Amino acid sequence: MRPAAFTYTRPATLADALRAMAGGAVPLAGGQSLLPAMRLRSATPQALVDLAGVAELSDAITCNDDILTIGARVTHNALLEHASLANEWPWLRAAAHALGDVQVRNLGTVLGNVCWADPRANMAVALLACDALVTAVAPSHGDGVDRIALSDFFTGFRSHALNGRLATSIEIKRRVGARGVYLEFSRQRQDLALVNVCVVRAAQYARVAVGGIDPMPVRLPEVEAAIVDGDSGDVVHALHENLVRGRHAPPQDHHGTDEYKLGLAVTLIKRALALGEVPA
Ligand SMILES: Cc1cc2nc3c(=O)[nH]c(=O)nc-3n(C[C@H](O)[C@H](O)[C@H](O)COP(=O)(O)OP(=O)(O)OC[C@H]3O[C@@H](n4cnc5c(N)ncnc54)[C@H](O)[C@@H]3O)c2cc1C
Repeated sequence: MRPAAFTYTRPATLADALRAMAGGAVPLAGGQSLLPAMRLRSATPQALVDLAGVAELSDAITCNDDILTIGARVTHNALLEHASLANEWPWLRAAAHALGDVQVRNLGTVLGNVCWADPRANMAVALLACDALVTAVAPSHGDGVDRIALSDFFTGFRSHALNGRLATSIEIKRRVGARGVYLEFSRQRQDLALVNVCVVRAAQYARVAVGGIDPMPVRLPEVEAAIVDGDSGDVVHALHENLVRGRHAPPQDHHGTDEYKLGLAVTLIKRALALGEVPA
């Protein structure tokens, strides 16, 4: 199917991009989620503003004062090629590596994946387990930058808290001794995961993020508390208490029942905990 009619602009400055958004234009990054949705007409924006030429939007990954910053134009492949990420945040690398194929990873951006806010978006789940923040600017804000914790960012199925703001980067604080594991189950390589999980642990710290068991990626605070304060029996108990029908509502599709997806989440989290190193 062809997309519905739309206009297209490719501004060179952030001010022009924000001006276009104030006029109703929808940001276009790598187009790897938005354009297929437009072809299916499940998304019908009347105007697109292409971010590729906006000089102020960075295509770099930087680390200053223990904050890793991933710019808005950083692609999945650029993230995969970043040396310190492989050493310090291997679970982010694993999530990027499992996403699509090489062409998709060459064009698709990390921030675009987060802003698409699919319940099973690889980078959304992996970054949620890192306490990442999205920085954003509003068309009316001048130079003001807002920071939105990813735990407050996802508001429902493919919806987020940007409210017309443009996301400019993702920030992650370096956590000493952190170890993490990203795992997913998909029916075949390059498919979106049916369920994906990311577990990050450090001393007195645990984050468990899951995709595919609710309309948006979620964390499991009770399981995190059991990992930090309890023994392995407490963790298993918390998993089985938490991952039950009624507490979660997996998106409906023909790939599996709610029970199947919740069971997958339990299995993947247990596996991630077994694989992840326990910090001293
Ligand atoms: C064949 C194929 C396989 C795929 N497999 C997977 C997979 O396994 N796992 C997975 O998670 N994804 C998968 N995807 C989806 C896709 O790769 C990502 O969601 C994509 O990389 C998103 O980034 P993008 O730059 O292409 O964003 P776009 O498609 O350009 O934009 C996505 C959304 O984010 C918004 N947006 C983008 N940038 C900003 C910004 N800076 N500020 C505010 N809003 C913004 C757009 O308006 C749009 O709503 C697949 C896609 C394809 C085509």
